Amino acid sequence: MTNPARWFISSSIPYVNARPHLGFALEIVQSDALARFRRSQGSEVHFLTGTDDNSLSNVRAAENNGISVGELVDRHSAAFFELREVLDLSFDDFIKTSSDPRHTPAVHRLWKHCEASGDIYKQAYRGLYCVGCEVFYKEPEVADGRCPVHLSQLEIVEEENFFFRLSRYQDALEKALESDRVRIEPLERRNEALGLLKSGLEDISISRSSHRARGWGIPVPGDESQIIYVWFDALANYISALGYAEDEEAFERFWLSSDVRAHVIGKDIVRQHALYWPAFLLSAGLPLPTVIYVHGFLSISGRKISKSLGSGVDPVELARTYGSDAIRYYLLAKVPSLKDSDFSLETFDRVYRSDLADQLGNLVSRAVALACKEGGIASSDRGFPEGASPLVEAALNLPQDIETFVDAFDFSAALGAIWGLVREANRYVVAAKPWERPPQSEERSPVVYLLLETLRWVAVHLEPFLPGTATEIVGRLGLISPETAGGFGEGAFQVRAGAGPLFPKSSKKGTDAHIAEVNTTNRV
Ligand SMILES: [Zn+2]
Repeated sequence: MTNPARWFISSSIPYVNARPHLGFALEIVQSDALARFRRSQGSEVHFLTGTDDNSLSNVRAAENNGISVGELVDRHSAAFFELREVLDLSFDDFIKTSSDPRHTPAVHRLWKHCEASGDIYKQAYRGLYCVGCEVFYKEPEVADGRCPVHLSQLEIVEEENFFFRLSRYQDALEKALESDRVRIEPLERRNEALGLLKSGLEDISISRSSHRARGWGIPVPGDESQIIYVWFDALANYISALGYAEDEEAFERFWLSSDVRAHVIGKDIVRQHALYWPAFLLSAGLPLPTVIYVHGFLSISGRKISKSLGSGVDPVELARTYGSDAIRYYLLAKVPSLKDSDFSLETFDRVYRSDLADQLGNLVSRAVALACKEGGIASSDRGFPEGASPLVEAALNLPQDIETFVDAFDFSAALGAIWGLVREANRYVVAAKPWERPPQSEERSPVVYLLLETLRWVAVHLEPFLPGTATEIVGRLGLISPETAGGFGEGAFQVRAGAGPLFPKSSKKGTDAHIAEVNTTNRV
């Protein structure tokens, strides 16, 4: 795929029964890296995130904490919005489904279109329901009547509901998935979705009694006794935020006629995104998502992260101690992008010290110190030094490598490629020993220039992943021309001394225990 002109990119919208955890930080940082990378390639990008306020889990959490649902939702939704600063996110829009005036009319419009297609009907229903998932499970799927995700006892729910004729879309969904019209990455998740299809689709309940919903959520148009099922409501956020209700220009631009409509989600909500959502869209006569990237689960020191079970690491505390780019680096470089992974503070701290402080931070300090002894000014007048071809070659290969890896949603490989160049530069400077040569000599100046230019190249390509670090490096290099654009060998610098280490190692100790004690379940 060669840089399509227009991308819609979304994260899922988490329900807000607790503060954000590291698992959601992973998803939003991956989405952000994708959005920033596409922008850096010249694509027009609309990156959306938000919160699913209407979930019944929010109602339960509010009841448990003795506050109103509105209060709980507002407080937690704000904490999710604040991730923008904490994790240096670049989302273009944030939808809060309980209060955004664009949302309810859009959900109603989607409902009415599905109804007009003959896909909504009312029927008595009895089923096994998990409040955490907000999903009805079929008997063969559950062992001992327990939720396969939450392991909690499922509730038997019996009431009259509206149903969506999902069964009618069996063939259309199979075609869409098999032809990769809706591409699902990785293959394992695509096969899972196809497996669900092969086992046969049944119609799904898309409303619940207002009583069971405690009156919280969006009423069914024309039937106030029923609240719209949270997935019908939540999935609609992808188009409601674009102004589907009023046919706004953003809807036309980023849904109807965008080149790519990409959803980034966790592996627990494949069924809803790969089957329900495309079926609702087909019913309403709207275009389907073109790609669904499904990341794995992050465990913390071997323990599952879950909102209901609580988890040990608060991304906000971690960012306060180490900085947003330290978290971004770990989540992008050290977590295999589409697989399960484990996080521990020990590994996180070790990665911070080795990859960021030692490999990148020290290289910047060394290059700046060498340049200052040259008088600060460096340009490519003398060309690249002899014996530098492995480094130059690695630099020239970097852009294509990164593009290939991001196309495959493999941020870990993309950052691996950048760190490959950083390691090559470290090897090169140790071998070339420019400090043993006189300043401004034929043997020294080109070596120093090549180091500065390599760091500029690193910064330019690091921007989508570690934006703050990229800006800081460019600032320290005193880039004079041409700005961050230009091919390898075209940078010119006026370096000034004075800044401290890029990634300080002091003052990190002693904070680990504090971070480890944070427990999200008790923080309302
Ligand atoms: Zn569950």
